[in-house]
Amino acid sequence: MKKLCLILALLWANLGLGQTKVVSTFTVIDYWAQRLTPSSISHKSLIPSGGELHGYQISPADLRLLNGAKRVIGLNPATEPWLADWAKANHREADVIWLNPDPSQLHLHAWLNPNEAKRMVSALSLALTKSFGTPDNESQVLLNELLKEIDSTALTIKTLLKAIPESQRKIIVYHPNLESFAEYFGLQVVATIVDSSVAESADPSLQRYSEILKLIKSQKVRVVAYDEGQSSRIAQQLALDGELPPPIALSFEYLQPPGKEGDTWPSMMILNARRIAEALQK
Ligand SMILES: [Zn+2]
Repeated sequence: MKKLCLILALLWANLGLGQTKVVSTFTVIDYWAQRLTPSSISHKSLIPSGGELHGYQISPADLRLLNGAKRVIGLNPATEPWLADWAKANHREADVIWLNPDPSQLHLHAWLNPNEAKRMVSALSLALTKSFGTPDNESQVLLNELLKEIDSTALTIKTLLKAIPESQRKIIVYHPNLESFAEYFGLQVVATIVDSSVAESADPSLQRYSEILKLIKSQKVRVVAYDEGQSSRIAQQLALDGELPPPIALSFEYLQPPGKEGDTWPSMMILNARRIAEALQK
């Protein structure tokens, strides 16, 4: 009996049963990984819904999840340095799939730009197909569905913004996360309240605050936004001092929990675009 138990335990370990096969660093990538793999391949996001890449620190439970994964998907060693460190320390570099080779400011939040999204899911599909030996035609069907979904999301958002003249599409956001979205959809991010995408909770200096206030007036900015779940205090004050309507909450950093609006990539994108469009139209 003891021997049988031991054999079963070894088999369990060898097959990797009970372990998550594809671990993604955050919910947006996990959504794509799940869409691109057959349902038999288990998947999980390391950072759960509500958590952000910025300031994340690896926990012992997360370490176990990483160690047990067959493949780990991240954006870029600049956005997830802890993953690059883990891969190096454990000689797992070959098992990490990086989706976004360009770490410039414009592309730090590359998942918000439909062209970048399509590029990333195409690369991801190729890497996952190779990793799990999924038949090519099966992978192609899954990829095509996802590419179509991205195109139709982009079209819906363009329609939402259509009525707003380009000269009025001016917005101030809390941290530098909207550039790649703005570039694609023709919005203008006039300023960000904080400079760094790492220290999200830091307040701007008094000098920066008055510079932003001046920009609101000289550029005729129409909307101030803050990151949902983070403090809205500075944004509220700016809107008040700039004689604008109250700031809007945007949530581009993660997907909502299942069942809530914003729980998929298209629904997250459209939810935020609708908030922006409504605020710009006021
Ligand atoms: Zn961000």
